Amino acid sequence: MSKIKYMTSDDKPDSPSIAQIMRYIAPVSMQIRCLELLDHFFQNPLLLSAPVVDAEAMPIALIERRSFVEYFGKPFARELHERKSILEFLTAAPIACEAPIVIAASTSIDDVAAIVSGRDMQHMVSGFIITADGRYAGVANGHDLLNDITQRKQAELYFLAHFDQLTKLPNRMLFADRLNQACLEASRMGAMVGLMFIDLDRFKQVNDSLGHAVGDLLLKDAARRLRACAREYDTVARLGGDEFAVLLDKLDDAADADLVARRIIEVMRQPFYLVEHELFITASIGMAMFPHDDQDIGNLLAKADAAMYESKRNGRDGYLRYVPGVSMYSLDKFSLETDLRTALEDGEFILHYQPQVCLKTGVAIGVEALIRWQHPRRGLLSPGHFIEIAEESGLIVPIGEWALREACLQIRAWEEADLPALCMSVNVSALQFRQERFCRTVSSAIEAAGINPALLQLELTESMVMQRAPSVQGILERLRQIGVKLAIDDFGTGFSSLSYLRHFPIDRLKIDQSFVRGIDHTPANESIVRAITALAKSLSLELVAEGIETSTELAVVRDCGCHLAQGYLFLRPVEASGLAGWLEENSRRERHQRRLTARGKEA
Ligand code: C2E
Ligand code: MG
Ligand code: MG
Repeated sequence: MSKIKYMTSDDKPDSPSIAQIMRYIAPVSMQIRCLELLDHFFQNPLLLSAPVVDAEAMPIALIERRSFVEYFGKPFARELHERKSILEFLTAAPIACEAPIVIAASTSIDDVAAIVSGRDMQHMVSGFIITADGRYAGVANGHDLLNDITQRKQAELYFLAHFDQLTKLPNRMLFADRLNQACLEASRMGAMVGLMFIDLDRFKQVNDSLGHAVGDLLLKDAARRLRACAREYDTVARLGGDEFAVLLDKLDDAADADLVARRIIEVMRQPFYLVEHELFITASIGMAMFPHDDQDIGNLLAKADAAMYESKRNGRDGYLRYVPGVSMYSLDKFSLETDLRTALEDGEFILHYQPQVCLKTGVAIGVEALIRWQHPRRGLLSPGHFIEIAEESGLIVPIGEWALREACLQIRAWEEADLPALCMSVNVSALQFRQERFCRTVSSAIEAAGINPALLQLELTESMVMQRAPSVQGILERLRQIGVKLAIDDFGTGFSSLSYLRHFPIDRLKIDQSFVRGIDHTPANESIVRAITALAKSLSLELVAEGIETSTELAVVRDCGCHLAQGYLFLRPVEASGLAGWLEENSRRERHQRRLTARGKEA
């Protein structure tokens, strides 16, 4: 038996030239038609596979874009990527057979494979079919089999190439094609097309804490809900991860898009019941309109994406239409990641600090360290612009470690400047927390700065604490032994049973800002804050309300029984020097207030 050249995935260049293809397919005679077909194939990225035909228009090979080429050559052989063992088994067996052999691995209908060895294809009329495990399965006509494979493969590949396997929604590729078509049609008819990007908020937390299986169920259900919100002729697609898109075809009025967006926001807020979990998820939506916002499809996509990011930065659970001036960071997310890689070495990060105030006395009792990136070209960036990229790329680990060390050094610096001792809260990301060296990193930061560990508080999130509970318990205990304090940040947004609060050595809960925002006119938020306050009290935990912006919000939060607060109303996050000034003013005010109260009592 002659040697067959198997192509491995390493052999596959990204975009093979026709000459390269020819080399692989040769010496099967290539007719003009075949070349035309190849040309068409390479010029049309939506075509994922193409049969190569001979002069009689019979298929002689099947080319797949993803795997470069499915190989039928001389001897007529078809390469099966990642299923080489079957081929090796078959080709190694000394098959002393004059008749050509067709071998199909028929473990499943989609799993069709064929290798024909022996004569040139044109001589082959029929052959035996042998299954993957070597059983004889019948006789097949070479061309018929090939035709059959080609058709089935085409259908299978079309589905694989154009639909998302999990949700069965169109994928990015099909979506791009439909968007193209819709915009072409719209320019002809003078109509409008709406483009909507949808990202599920905090999906990562679900995946991290409850596992991928639950994450997948959530995505499926979210896809079903989205589909139900759109009109029949709209395309709802999954672009990847937790990103979806909706194409609103033939819009009469931009306001109709708002309507769909509002509907989506509303249905996503409804609880998801998955396995035994009841989950609450929200969505952030960005929209752009063709032709109004852009006539170029690439730009239109980027603008909808930018609007979506802006809507996330705006506090999530909402939708925004693109407006000129929306920062287009997502356009060059990649370059931001590149910059992020050198930012640490180049000393571009700084910490800002925001005080936490006791509502009984008005005195600052702590500060939270919040990272900022002094980007050489873009200016000062807050975490909303880069934390997600840092998390995706793993850079959050060294960045977070830097923040931890820096915060400890700042505690020391304030101590040396004789400022009142404040507890410093530092945010910890999930990835950082999962590092085996995490506890060591914490203790060495404390030692290096020579500070009292009780002045350091780590802010964790519910989902971090929830996952794989026994090992988490161990880590929390170790941190407790080191002497640091622990807080649960953004409390109320996670997906936890509350029993862990009793078991874990936690000192503080921080009510997420979304419950505080507008609490003075949102009774539901007030009820939530009251419930959390009661919970914290019964578990003897400190409670901080985050994101207080107005004095009316403050009044309601105080009335709910919450004694600690943080927010723009007191001070926006500022550099260390700015905080020192505020602290002095704060303690002067407090002394003054105390004197007044004392005098009032004397009188
Ligand atoms: P967080 O820990 O919940 O921090 C509170 C965020 O709310 C901060 O945003 C703060 O500036 C903002 N904020 C405070 N008061 C108000 C207010 O009254 N109104 C409004 N609208 N916002 C207020 P920031 O600094 O942009 O940080 C965002 C998030 O980035 C933080 O949320 C935290 O999760 C993360 N982060 C910040 N620094 C670090 C860090 O060093 N490491 C890690 N892993 N994450 C960090
Ligand atoms: Mg925090
Ligand atoms: Mg928070």
